[in-house]
Amino acid sequence: MKILIVGGVAGGASAAARLRRLSEEHEIIMFERGQYISFANCGLPYHIGGVIKDRDVLLVQTVEGMKSRFNIDVRVNTEVEKINVEEKKIIAKDLKTGTTYEESFDKILLSPGAEVFVPPVKGADSPRAFILRNMKDMDKIIAHVKKNNVKKAVVVGAGFIGIEIAENFVELDMQTTVVEFADQVLAPVDAEIAAQVHQNMKDHDVELLLGHGVTEIVDGDTRSTVKIAKAGEKEASVEVEAEIIILAAGVRPETKLAVDAGCEIHPRFGIKVDEYMRTNVKDIYAVGDAVTVKNYMNGQEINIPLAWPANRQGRLVADTMLDRPNKQPYNGTMGTSILKAFDYTVGATGLNEKSLQRAGLVYGKDYLTITVNRNSNAGYYPGATPLTLKLIFTPEGKILGAQGIGSKGVDKRIDVIATAIKGGINVIDLQDVELAYAPPFNSAKDPVNILGYYAENVLNGDVKLVRYNEVEALVEAGTHELLDIRTADERELGFIPGSKHIDLAELRGRISELDKEKTYIVYCQVGLRGYVAYRMLVNLGYKAINLDGGYKLWEPTSLDQCNIGIFEGTEATEFHHTENTPFVDAKLIGEERTFGNVQTIELDACGLACPGPIMKTRKTMEDLNPGDILQIKSSELGFRKDIKTWAEKTGHKFLSAKVEDGIVVAQVQKLDQGNCGNFSMPNGSTEGVKVVESTKNKQTMVVFSGDMDKVLASFIIANGALAMGKEVTMFFTFWGLNALRKENFVNNNKSFIDKMFGMMMPKGPNKLKLSNMNMGGMGTLMMKKVMNDKNVETLPSLMKMFFDNGGKIIACDMSVDVMGFSHDELIDEVEYGGVAAFLGESEDSFSTLFI
Ligand code: FAD
Repeated sequence: MKILIVGGVAGGASAAARLRRLSEEHEIIMFERGQYISFANCGLPYHIGGVIKDRDVLLVQTVEGMKSRFNIDVRVNTEVEKINVEEKKIIAKDLKTGTTYEESFDKILLSPGAEVFVPPVKGADSPRAFILRNMKDMDKIIAHVKKNNVKKAVVVGAGFIGIEIAENFVELDMQTTVVEFADQVLAPVDAEIAAQVHQNMKDHDVELLLGHGVTEIVDGDTRSTVKIAKAGEKEASVEVEAEIIILAAGVRPETKLAVDAGCEIHPRFGIKVDEYMRTNVKDIYAVGDAVTVKNYMNGQEINIPLAWPANRQGRLVADTMLDRPNKQPYNGTMGTSILKAFDYTVGATGLNEKSLQRAGLVYGKDYLTITVNRNSNAGYYPGATPLTLKLIFTPEGKILGAQGIGSKGVDKRIDVIATAIKGGINVIDLQDVELAYAPPFNSAKDPVNILGYYAENVLNGDVKLVRYNEVEALVEAGTHELLDIRTADERELGFIPGSKHIDLAELRGRISELDKEKTYIVYCQVGLRGYVAYRMLVNLGYKAINLDGGYKLWEPTSLDQCNIGIFEGTEATEFHHTENTPFVDAKLIGEERTFGNVQTIELDACGLACPGPIMKTRKTMEDLNPGDILQIKSSELGFRKDIKTWAEKTGHKFLSAKVEDGIVVAQVQKLDQGNCGNFSMPNGSTEGVKVVESTKNKQTMVVFSGDMDKVLASFIIANGALAMGKEVTMFFTFWGLNALRKENFVNNNKSFIDKMFGMMMPKGPNKLKLSNMNMGGMGTLMMKKVMNDKNVETLPSLMKMFFDNGGKIIACDMSVDVMGFSHDELIDEVEYGGVAAFLGESEDSFSTLFI
């Protein structure tokens, strides 16, 4: 038998190899229009960004390899132009010579893939506009970027390929604008998951225009102007300059050959095939991006252009073409997909909520959703990073789909759920999926198991949920009130406006503050404590609902999703993505302590909460010489920005910060203040080395209060100011002096009144009480535990850090006297002074805080 294959990449090459493995009898000829077969199209964006350095690794199989290993006649640079069904012949054109010839066949497989959809806008044929489908496209993009030293890019479309290209352009220090017609990126996931990607892209200084489309591209001498209008409007409202424009607005099946051959075609989704990948025309088969598939979840026709289906179909169709007795049908595509989007991994399987709503299904009636926020592995094991999973299921417990986002562990959970769907596992049975556990890999209850437990609670009515997007309307209606049951620390970092705050630890004791007529929307950080509070309230006769996914899910949706105009007034040549400044080879750090004339030191600040990593950075920097490089690791994602600000404020050179496996790795070079001439950068240049001078470099604080939380806050700010290179003086007066008392000091020379007064007041930092909710000392103990759990430094250690870093404390002499203290009763590091000493210090200060 003579078998022809059109298309030599995913589907075509898979089928060809399988055909040969099954039989040596048949003649197999594979035609490929491009220069290469079996290349890794999925790797193309990463070679553009330099992440995949070696171009050759993208060429998974060569023409010679296909010939020698499989005896397949591969004809590259050859386009199949026509299929003559009657005569069972094709017309092929050698694209190098221009000659055409005929080739007969017994059976033919079409795997021509999908072409890039180019939006029908004026100027889309600009020499600065590119698509990315194959090696040739990739080479063209790289050549254009290099030749023109491209620094400004517009990416049209925020699907998988658009996002991957944007990420890689940012890696190349290009100012990148992403324009997307929909109001979110990444169609496979729902808005609340996409919102996290939006915020992360904004953090990476990508300009994001959602709900916008390109209307025209106008070429200038060195740049093109990309005109952009709001979706649905014709008039452009935004103009962005670009030196390169990538058109990544989607793909559509290549169907021309099939149409000409009389194959039945779906107008949108491509060549129609049966479950054995047979077209309606005898002996013509089709697979991959070009075909209409059955959606595994609902049986509807769809086109899902992904590599897994193409490869799977390629294998199955070989069995069918050889008419093997045990040939298997293709069961449909679930759309399991994943990508790296900046710091996140985003994955999805099955149906998303948008598609259910489009189909007219109603939340609460036809389907339910739950969201869990967990860690990728045991939280106490280094390197654990947060993970969000959304599960969609029917009230009967059938799993409809799942989505996940996080730095690590998303792939595993999405794959487990995809397997569960294929296995017909019920949502509650997810509890019973026994998954491998050890702290570096997982928790004893995997997030997938937690989804099962959570779903059971929902289905049993043990918890009633409210969604992130329902809150506003319910509160506005006046029937519901928001109740934040997180700790004060957590609330400090942000809360839902209008919410009442009662820490879960106090809720029972303060329950009388709640109104039984109202329904409380209870929320915590991730949804778990909210459930505990919900149960408490309901059991005590109150009405409540729990915010699914907690504050963590709600917050990114409440922020601006776009950041139009962020590059206005900036020069693209100045744009340095924080993650892409030269990174000193980590191998040199620690072992080989010198690199050129530069010493490199590693600092591990993982597990420390803010401002711990900055404090440690400052301390370590003090011991380095100008020119030395400090590499710091922190598990706080916010450190990526903090370290840059710190370096800029303190006059050191920020080199780079990147996130590796969810851990921020940053490099800062110590500068000799005001002098950059006596050392050079690793590459020998001193470019960009400058010293930032501050005219008012002092911070003064008056600590009047003796409340533990207030003194604690004072020292956190004071240490932060020290870390920013400021001189800090704290002036302690009245009740604040209690924080400075020695714990075990006894003064027998005091008068009776002074002794009594002294006994009634706390002795030293360990004995201070909370300003609020002290609850006979319980609140204070609980606060200390929370601080410990969250790796927040204790007050004594913050005080020690303060002195170690050169901070100064002046005790108000007058207050010391009034309070009946003696000098030796207070800690030795303290200096004494009066108002004049304080005013002298404050005069040069940037600001003075009164606490
Ligand atoms: P293709 O692999 O596109 O192969 C079709 C081939 O047929 C083409 O090389 C074309 O030149 C040739 N051809 C077409 N017509 C003719 C003709 N008349 N004569 C001769 N030859 C012809 N999928 C994922 O699942 N994960 C990813 O991370 C991912 N990343 C991607 C990144 C990029 C940049 C791109 C472009 C695609 C990515 N995909 C990804 C999609 C995935 O590559 C496709 O789904 C898969 O390759 C489809 O296989 P196919 O055989 O149908 O088509």
